[in-house]
Amino acid sequence: ARRNPGQNEYLQAVREVLHSIWPHVQQHRRYTEHGLLERLVEPERIIIFRVAWVDDRGETQVNRGYRIQHNSAIGPYKGGIRFHPTVDLSVLKFLAFEQTFKNALTTLPMGGGKGGSDFDPKGKSPGEVMRFCQAFASELFRHVGSDTDVPAGDIGVGAREVGFMAGMIKKLTNRADCVFTGKGLSFGGSLIRPEATGYGTVYFAQEMLLHSGRSIEGLRVAVSGSGNVAQYAVEKAMELGAIVVTVSDSSGTIIDDEGFTPDKLAELQDVKNHHYGRVSDYAQRTGARFEASTKPWSVACDVALPCATQNELSGADARMLIANGVMCVAEGANMPATAEAIAAFEAAGALFGPGKASNAGGVATSGLEMSQNAMRLSWPREEVDARLLEIMRGIHRACLNYGARPDGTVSYVNGANIAGFVKVADAMLAQGVI
Ligand code: NDP
Repeated sequence: ARRNPGQNEYLQAVREVLHSIWPHVQQHRRYTEHGLLERLVEPERIIIFRVAWVDDRGETQVNRGYRIQHNSAIGPYKGGIRFHPTVDLSVLKFLAFEQTFKNALTTLPMGGGKGGSDFDPKGKSPGEVMRFCQAFASELFRHVGSDTDVPAGDIGVGAREVGFMAGMIKKLTNRADCVFTGKGLSFGGSLIRPEATGYGTVYFAQEMLLHSGRSIEGLRVAVSGSGNVAQYAVEKAMELGAIVVTVSDSSGTIIDDEGFTPDKLAELQDVKNHHYGRVSDYAQRTGARFEASTKPWSVACDVALPCATQNELSGADARMLIANGVMCVAEGANMPATAEAIAAFEAAGALFGPGKASNAGGVATSGLEMSQNAMRLSWPREEVDARLLEIMRGIHRACLNYGARPDGTVSYVNGANIAGFVKVADAMLAQGVI
């Protein structure tokens, strides 16, 4: 804490992982040697840079850009770029730290990284977004490469922004290296990549439920967020027969007691993806029930899928969900549940899938995009989806392997943290003190 003053999110993420792996570390002396833990919590490299661009009024704007290259023990740095006014060193260090273990869990050869800017895309014209992305990429290009560091999207960065940044990097490097994942299909993107995080989160929830003798079919599901992850979590949950009763954004929550349908989702996607609108615009268009400034956690549901942002589900929210009968929670976002919320879910015996396991489908499919790019071919939808499902099942098995409790229940938090840690730690030890 003394070394990282004020970095609350980073300290929160590190504490959670260290707490959970500690018994395993103590049983295996090699993990206490060679400064392994000290090295693991120190990012290999942090790049901070100025991003200057000109807005539509002709005025110069200055934002701050970052890339955290956290750990490359098992492959090139890999992790998304986030554009949101809350982006700072603490948020990106927590995300890069989590990403390192998540990527290890996928079993694909990817290290951990994360980047972004405090740029707020809300209310910006398409031209402003493009100029910002180009300015950001004009520094980022020096630090990335298909064998060094491969960024992707995250909050505020979708296919449009990835396209602008990848295009600028191609121009500056004179190489067609596919340095981003999450690219458009016309220039090297993978089928199923946009869907992968949301689909994977629902696959993981389904695996947890099946393991405990239940199924998601017929269950009521509350989703938060309405961006990339949330939209495809809604789609897959509906496909598997669940009733999706909420979506949200930072303005409030849509409550739909009868459940979303493919038509309603298409309407929401039009509002969000084509008009960059709010869920309140969706409510206005469709007459859906909208509650301003609320979160979805007060509705009665069996499954909760937080898919918006960090710390969006507090201890009080968790207690409300438990009182309303929630039996399964899978994190689509990164660290959406606070430590207090996780403890409440586990104490109540609810299944709890931590983000580094349950939302790993996105980066796993990014790994598949890298493979397809390297082979210069593209796999059909069914093949990518089948591989995604298999990877999510593999992550579930890894969690069972390290997280089974003597009473037969499973701590997915411990399972995911220990399985991810073991892989990264052994790779670091094998490569000496560097
Ligand atoms: P999007 O930008 O597409 O959507 C983000 C959603 O979350 C929006 O509905 C947004 O609402 C809401 N949101 C963001 N910040 C806040 C906030 N401070 N308070 C309330 N609501 C907020 O991002 P993604 O769907 O890509 O990402 C969502 C989460 O999933 C993030 O935690 C991300 O790190 C994680 N994730 C994403 C992956 C991916 O493949 N995209 C992979 C793995 C994890 P509003 O528009 O009002 O801001």
